[in-house]
Amino acid sequence: MTESIKTILIDGKWQEARDGDAIEVVAPSTGQRIGAISRGGKTEIDAAVAAARRAFEGVWGQTPAVERGRLLSKLGLRIAECAEELAQIEARDTGKAMKLARNDVAATARYFEYYGGAADKLHGETIPFLEGYQVLIVREPRGVAGHIIPWNYPAQMFGRTIAAALAAGNTAVLKPAEEACLSIIRLTELAIEVGIPAGVINLVTGYGEEAGAALTANPDVDFLSFTGSPEVGTLVQKAAADNHVPCVLELGGKSPQIVFDDVDVEKALPVIVSAIIQNTGQTCSAGSRVLIQRTIYEEFVAALAKRVNAVRVGSHDADLDCGPVISAVQCDRVRGFLERAQADGVAVIGEGRLDASAVDGGFYVKPTLLGPVDESHELAQDEVFGPVLAAIPFDDENDAIRIANGTHFGLIAGIWTENGARQMRLAKKLRVGQVYINGYGAGGGIELPFGGFKRSGHGREKGFEALKEYTVAKTIVINHK
Ligand code: NAD
Repeated sequence: MTESIKTILIDGKWQEARDGDAIEVVAPSTGQRIGAISRGGKTEIDAAVAAARRAFEGVWGQTPAVERGRLLSKLGLRIAECAEELAQIEARDTGKAMKLARNDVAATARYFEYYGGAADKLHGETIPFLEGYQVLIVREPRGVAGHIIPWNYPAQMFGRTIAAALAAGNTAVLKPAEEACLSIIRLTELAIEVGIPAGVINLVTGYGEEAGAALTANPDVDFLSFTGSPEVGTLVQKAAADNHVPCVLELGGKSPQIVFDDVDVEKALPVIVSAIIQNTGQTCSAGSRVLIQRTIYEEFVAALAKRVNAVRVGSHDADLDCGPVISAVQCDRVRGFLERAQADGVAVIGEGRLDASAVDGGFYVKPTLLGPVDESHELAQDEVFGPVLAAIPFDDENDAIRIANGTHFGLIAGIWTENGARQMRLAKKLRVGQVYINGYGAGGGIELPFGGFKRSGHGREKGFEALKEYTVAKTIVINHK
């Protein structure tokens, strides 16, 4: 396929891949082609990294923090002005319902507002030392940051990684996911429009094994930020090790919602359902396991099933509870889990409905509640990345903690109990990066540090913690004797 599409931005200039190759863009709601992006590779990545280096050592390095912050805030405002256009692009490209796309764009604007405000508040420290010495700790940007992100929340991921990196004074080369990156192309245009200098943000569209791998292998990249699957995360970390550069990995999850018998049922039910159907379950922090105390298991799953049965699935513009999943591959993957569960005798307790807008050719799956699922079953252990909720009974607090911690993942958890002491005991014992008590925050909270334990990754994004990742401490010792 040879289509002239300029979706690569290097040093402020839009261009296509050197050999003119392109990748088709397909709308998940219909399965129809809606455009194409350039298939960048090593040549474009290397040029983008060189441009980012020049910008880091030149214009961006010389831009005072206050000015960096102003530019980021300006971009946040411009994103808010273009919110409806961006939401339309995002919904069509990813299949997500319009209301979710609108939320995502609002969050993207908020990332730039938040980190724009933080840019000039990255203070250093002083350390008491020997008589006659003054010690200063200054936080410096790492340099050229390489960003590789997935398709589930393209616009938000742009905000999350780019705003933090730039606020801290880094320059960026971004390789978005080939399945969905149209909003990112538009966001990058807006960044140039508001005056973020050429070379500060460079965008290379293309395949992961080509452009992504070239970015991780480039020895002039100082820091890697990766969000995606644990498998690719391993490759990224190995490449980072080869070049001795640090990396932040935000990987998958199998996050539990733990429901005790003193739960406020009416408060819990809608949150538990929304945490698995949000973005059609394609959220790293989806609440994909519901652990229920055995004494209330039957009545609670029955109430949950009622709500799951009411979930409606349709095209992005029908704006229902759930859209399609991202691709035919993802659709087959989710259906594979459901078929194997059926073959293993796991009962379906609740199932959402397809709306008339869920046309043939689109990538639709029905949200499904299954249980009781054995804690060793793949539905209780592996990330489905679709709207599939596994119900698992537990006996007591210790049993709940053991099951909750009993996967390779450790991203977030929800605890549903009115018992304050128990809330705190669990919060401390769960090996996850975020704990919600009587609530759940799949994907939310720009201000809240976010990241995993175990195969959910390491390092933290969001909040001020992200700025620590994107900077490094330098110690300056002054002898004034
Ligand atoms: P993926 O790992 O296949 O792809 C993620 C990105 O990596 C894409 O841009 C892809 O092109 C790129 N990539 C693929 N192969 C590569 C390689 N060899 N070298 C460098 N880059 C490469 O993941 P996905 O299918 O796009 O996204 C789904 C996964 O992402 C899920 O496992 C989900 O849990 C995870 N995720 C995690 C978070 C988080 O914050 N923890 C957020 C969203 C998604």
